[in-house]
Amino acid sequence: MEKFDFKHLLQKTKKRFALPATNKTNVAQFLKELDLICSEAETLIEQQKEGDRSLLACEPGCQSCCVVNVSITLLEGISIARFLHQLSSADLAQVTSRLDSLWRDVRGLDDDERMMLRRKCAFLDEQGYCLIYPVRPLFCRSISSTDVEQCKAAVVGQTFGELQPVMMHQFQLQLYKTLFSGVADGLAQAGLDGRSFQLCGLVRYLLSHPDREEELLSQSSLCWKDLYA
Ligand code: SF4
Repeated sequence: MEKFDFKHLLQKTKKRFALPATNKTNVAQFLKELDLICSEAETLIEQQKEGDRSLLACEPGCQSCCVVNVSITLLEGISIARFLHQLSSADLAQVTSRLDSLWRDVRGLDDDERMMLRRKCAFLDEQGYCLIYPVRPLFCRSISSTDVEQCKAAVVGQTFGELQPVMMHQFQLQLYKTLFSGVADGLAQAGLDGRSFQLCGLVRYLLSHPDREEELLSQSSLCWKDLYA
């Protein structure tokens, strides 16, 4: 199989987000672009996986890795918050309450501490499915274990301070990492907010401040104090 050009993909993705500045930041246009790169990535993975599809162990309902710090861009946070706003008010209230509780426990924790706590992501439903699957973060999409037992052992090992390797599908991992960097760098190049934030804290904030999306993206005005309030 021909070697995939990740450098080219990075530059191409940056260009797609580093759109010329306009008077008004068009959030909808950026969200459409984000959607598009995700569906193009899925097609690429399908093409690359031919022949080794069986190597991937990740399956719907497996939630072993959903106990880690997840970094997302502001744009991804807006996409997730908008998706959640389509839920019924009862369902949204449940998610909000899970986010509040999780954020109280995990804010300020580094990656090791977060994993040792073994608190599940607030977006897991009762059956262990990801509630925001269609708009899940690029980080989550990059996780591509080839061995379920290795994942479980790594999480347990971390609790005891032991590092356990997990074999990943390298193409999928690299693809989404590249896209994440491309989106973040492209937004920053366009003068917009390309920083990354912790999934739980950011979405919790955006859910209660839908009116600030455009201002936050165009002025990079979100600060850690906002998330901790
Ligand atoms: S967003 Fe979904 S895939 Fe990512 S950690 Fe949470 S439940 Fe898991």
